[in-house]
Amino acid sequence: MNLIILGPPGAGKGTQAKRLQDRYGIAQISTGDMLRAEVAAGSAIGREAKAVMEAGQLVSDAILIRMLRARIERPDAAKGFILDGFPRTVPQAEALDGMLGEKGEKLDAVIQLKVDDAALVDRIAGRYTCAKCGAGYHDRYQRPRVAGVCDACGATEFIRRADDNRETVTARLAAYHRQTAPILPHYAAQGVLRVVDGMADIDGVTRQIELALEATPA
Ligand code: ADP
Ligand code: ADP
Ligand code: ZN
Repeated sequence: MNLIILGPPGAGKGTQAKRLQDRYGIAQISTGDMLRAEVAAGSAIGREAKAVMEAGQLVSDAILIRMLRARIERPDAAKGFILDGFPRTVPQAEALDGMLGEKGEKLDAVIQLKVDDAALVDRIAGRYTCAKCGAGYHDRYQRPRVAGVCDACGATEFIRRADDNRETVTARLAAYHRQTAPILPHYAAQGVLRVVDGMADIDGVTRQIELALEATPA
């Protein structure tokens, strides 16, 4: 099964994609996580991407398309994938169509998470993750069961993203509306777009996604 989860920054893509990975045995592919790993490693891609990401803008299509092409060939994606953060531009969407076509595969569904801009600022400002396993949390909406201890792995160190501040959010939202939202009609025309109310709580969003996927022909 090949899925895309699409929505503005902070909409809940990563949160839901991790659940879909576990449920369907497909690879969660977050291009944001991949880029952050390149930045941390100080690679050539990382050095080019760092300032762009911190300014809340999009890294070049050429880099992202090359990264994704290599990533979907890895063995963990053999049963399919859920893309979180890709595509973000029309050229990226077209490149993905081409890659799938070459492999004789298709997209099963594109899940669009709809969330108001005001709620996104709140979600992003309160977001943090476990430094060891990457599990996602929120200061108010998703606290660990024991304060300061990761539910998933027991670690006690957490990190916040450099670009998760109120100033950068405005630029990221603008990039979403200007460059990413225009790919929605592309998927609507293919008949694969499934719109989900991302304002619901985390479990409520998961239930809606499951219903939308059950209604999707295999
Ligand atoms: P969010 O969780 O806010 O949706 P991501 O973690 O997906 O953000 O991405 C963080 C940043 O990485 C983006 O603001 C952008 O600079 C860069 N990035 C991630 N994916 C892409 C992509 N497909 N195309 C261009 N830039 C990307
Ligand atoms: P994205 O990957 O789209 O940028 P995340 O999945 O990282 O978004 O979610 C952003 C923040 O909002 C995280 O701190 C997460 O815990 C929280 N969150 C995710 N979904 C919801 C929801 N439905 N209601 C409230 N908070 C949420
Ligand atoms: Zn952890």
